[in-house]
Amino acid sequence: MSNVPSVSPPPAYPTSDPSRNSFGTLSEKSPHKAIEETIDKLDCQLRQLSLRIHDHPEIMFHETYARDLLSTFMRDHGFKVTTGYLGLPTAWRAEYTQGQGGRVVGINSEMDALSGLGHACGHNLIAVSGCGVAVALKAALEQTNTPGKIILLGTPAEESGGGKILLLERGGFEEMDFCLMCHPAPGPSHSFDLGSSNAMQTFEVEFFGQSAHAGASPWEGTNALDAAFVAYSSISLLRQQMRPDHRVHGIVSGKDWVPNVIPDYSKMRWIVRAPTWPELEVFVKRVQNCFQAAALATSCKVNIKSEAPYFDLNQNDALAGAFSSVMTERYGMSASSNGTSASTDFGNVSYEIPSLHPLFAIPTSPNGGNHTPAFEKAAATSEAHAAAMRITCGLANIAFLGLKDDEFYSQVRFFISCSPESFLFYSRKSPLDSTFLNLDKDFVPSFSKKSELKGETLFAPVTKCEF
Ligand SMILES: [Zn+2]
Ligand SMILES: [Zn+2]
Repeated sequence: MSNVPSVSPPPAYPTSDPSRNSFGTLSEKSPHKAIEETIDKLDCQLRQLSLRIHDHPEIMFHETYARDLLSTFMRDHGFKVTTGYLGLPTAWRAEYTQGQGGRVVGINSEMDALSGLGHACGHNLIAVSGCGVAVALKAALEQTNTPGKIILLGTPAEESGGGKILLLERGGFEEMDFCLMCHPAPGPSHSFDLGSSNAMQTFEVEFFGQSAHAGASPWEGTNALDAAFVAYSSISLLRQQMRPDHRVHGIVSGKDWVPNVIPDYSKMRWIVRAPTWPELEVFVKRVQNCFQAAALATSCKVNIKSEAPYFDLNQNDALAGAFSSVMTERYGMSASSNGTSASTDFGNVSYEIPSLHPLFAIPTSPNGGNHTPAFEKAAATSEAHAAAMRITCGLANIAFLGLKDDEFYSQVRFFISCSPESFLFYSRKSPLDSTFLNLDKDFVPSFSKKSELKGETLFAPVTKCEF
């Protein structure tokens, strides 16, 4: 007989229909056929890679199996491969150049899993999508004799550790004229989302106290576990006054805790999120006050370490518009711009170079979104793979367009030059100065235009996989 009580799940919210958007007509210059035929041919191999990575989950900076598998695949498809890229053992780069003088597109493949949950964020799908985009794009460039360079980066440690931020700081994105990737999420079938994500700051908070016999002389002790509880309670109360789109969540751990010794050490990890960097800076101060208050109330010492922040996603309007067109018109998918209150280190990339990071829906059970066992199962299904392959075709098309079409690329540049780059710069200097907020308001990407869904074709590879 088990002692574990049964837990009933919370009621599930119904899923609302996404608004359907369109952003003009996609250039007819795009070689859809070459891209789709290549993805069709690669489908079984990509599915196999995805399942292998899924069955062999590796957490941040330990993605050696995925690195070897994916980089070998890219080498076999004619790419020049570097592993251990820029001093990160599990980062890798695969590049291919055609002709001279063309632009450079970047693509990212995430690989990391979650401790204890496996691939519950579906990064196995992102990993193979990145490979698919790169190889399909290479085929399209070859077929049309278009000059350009493809750089696919295998980026470690997205869940924690900020692998892309490290690569960014070390010049890993410098050569790129624009950068693309995708991410799975729950949602209505055959849909994608081009909204933003939250900015995020992670803290490690340590409380140091004094141990004592909890029965004989507790007054001689300084209780670090109490400090953690006070911090937790204070932040729980702060939650009543925070904005509904802000998030704060944390855990507590200790060392050698037993009930008859006053704990002299506790450690907490906290994640603080808000839709924009200026909002996050304001909110972070209020959370930090809770850490300080806990130390003061319990006479403990506190040490607060902040990790590299993840910025919100600055989706490029021109890339988003073209992507939305191809996905709705050619593949019959529906678009939304709800965004997510989760966060990604790709946000930092998106403030440096024009970037696109669509979320795509994969079928999962109610309340079975990212970071749940249900989503881990969902990330291995053939339906999820088919969704990833459709998005892969769309991204390869946009990548081709960005390399081939000067007029389109000048639009892409226009949006990055007037988008929240300056917003971020000013926000770092003066988070409470509202004048710059008004200044940049018009440049925040908006996906409010609506039109009818035109196409009904859903791309699905025709080859049957046997393995
Ligand atoms: Zn995740
Ligand atoms: Zn993820």
